[in-house]
Amino acid sequence: MKDLFLSIRRGPSAVAAMRRPKASNPEASASSTGPLTVRCESCGIAVPTALAISADAESKKHQCELCASYSTAGEKDSSNRGRDMATQSLVAVVPEICATDMNLLHWALAVALEDPSERERAMQVSQRLQARMYDAKHGYGSMRAPAYREAMGFLSDGEYAMRDVTELRLVFSPALMQKLQAEVGQSHGEFMNCDRWTELTQSTRRLMVDGPGDAEPK
Ligand SMILES: [Zn+2]
Repeated sequence: MKDLFLSIRRGPSAVAAMRRPKASNPEASASSTGPLTVRCESCGIAVPTALAISADAESKKHQCELCASYSTAGEKDSSNRGRDMATQSLVAVVPEICATDMNLLHWALAVALEDPSERERAMQVSQRLQARMYDAKHGYGSMRAPAYREAMGFLSDGEYAMRDVTELRLVFSPALMQKLQAEVGQSHGEFMNCDRWTELTQSTRRLMVDGPGDAEPK
């Protein structure tokens, strides 16, 4: 499980198109409740293949759209899904939550916001996250992802490699999450209960660090 840092596509990789995985991908597994899903190699969430992003057509590794956004920060529609990720994601200073956990939290929030009994608590968490964007504005001059993209594009290769973005996270808009959640369907329903977030995040992290073990057949 490698952590995510704000990055942009530079040089030859900047023109490499990201493609959707084929539905016949052998890594995909059918679930009884929904469409074919794959596991995001970064945050560990299961996403339908239609929402997964792979670096190339042959790659068996997939990322969810949130995790993939970290390598294309500030790009308008980096995965050709017709979603304006540049304006739907803002930069916040949240050093205490790593980017992969932050993305898991976003997926959990999206489910909880749909649930009448958890909505209010989920809104509070969402608002707290959004408040942290102002720290980015004060400390770094902007909370807009394209501004960071522009700044990183201006750096030499050496400076880019040394960039310190360790405390920066992307906060995705509730509207974007609502749209994604509609496509994900019920497969993240276990996150509906806010009380279980810590437990679920820890078990997902264990799965990503230690591998599936006995819990999930390979
Ligand atoms: Zn992910």
